[in-house]
Amino acid sequence: MFFRNDSNGSAIATTYSWYSGSSIIDTDIVFWDAAFTFFSGTAGCSGGFYIEDVVAHEFGHALGLGHSADSTATMYASASYCSQSFRVLASDDIAGIEAIYPAVATTPPTAPSELAVTVSTDNPASAVDIAWTDGSTDEDRFLIERALAGEAWAQVASVGANVTAYADQGLQSGTNYSYRVRAENSAGFSGYAGPASATTQSPVPPATPSSPTPATGATGVSIDIDPSWVSAGVRSYDVYFGTSAAPARYASGLTAARLVLPTLSAGTTYFWRVTATNEAGSSTGPTWSFTTKAAKPRGKK
Ligand SMILES: [Zn+2]
Repeated sequence: MFFRNDSNGSAIATTYSWYSGSSIIDTDIVFWDAAFTFFSGTAGCSGGFYIEDVVAHEFGHALGLGHSADSTATMYASASYCSQSFRVLASDDIAGIEAIYPAVATTPPTAPSELAVTVSTDNPASAVDIAWTDGSTDEDRFLIERALAGEAWAQVASVGANVTAYADQGLQSGTNYSYRVRAENSAGFSGYAGPASATTQSPVPPATPSSPTPATGATGVSIDIDPSWVSAGVRSYDVYFGTSAAPARYASGLTAARLVLPTLSAGTTYFWRVTATNEAGSSTGPTWSFTTKAAKPRGKK
């Protein structure tokens, strides 16, 4: 800042800023000493301006503020002779500078609490739901850490301020996972919530095949029947079928709960059973039977 024995139109002082991109990297403040008389303090001004008030306005420019439309603001574009109002910032000036220079935390956030880890309802064998209570108002994010029994903690995710839940997916089935969560801001880390843990569900074998069509013991069944059944959690089926009461394997690796058969013999009892398989094992239903419709005697109508 300097006094210059010159004038610049109606300007009392002028702030010149040099930029790199949108950032001010240097400023110079010039007081136009040939055009105006400058005073200091709170008394004695006559037909001029107090330097305290002019410099407060110019320093606002140096920090990046433009002019305010609020006539009570320090950053209002014009000043009255000998005014002492600019040296005290108005709420508009403070709001402007806080918008350009947001508050920075000086202490780490308070720790979150009440960590809860539960197995996912939708994907119980491969995901867990993590929830906690936010303990702070000044966190920038929450960090989620995970560990297997006896192994080191590792951060697996971060979520934004005020988020209080995270779903950890892609986990191994039948495995116990521990979690802990902490908050972070520019001043550092909070303490942890937790640890808490949950065990993903072990895979279970498929449901035992049931509800055969035709029903077991049925008679008068069409020779064009394709038997079907019901199960759940299945990857594939093997079907045993034949006229023996202990039928041999007839088809394997079926993915639909239906056995497509050629035309059967009339008036014949067939036996069948179904084994359902997935990665956890197999389930075999009971042996079912049905009897096809008898052939019509020849020569009669
Ligand atoms: Zn100005």
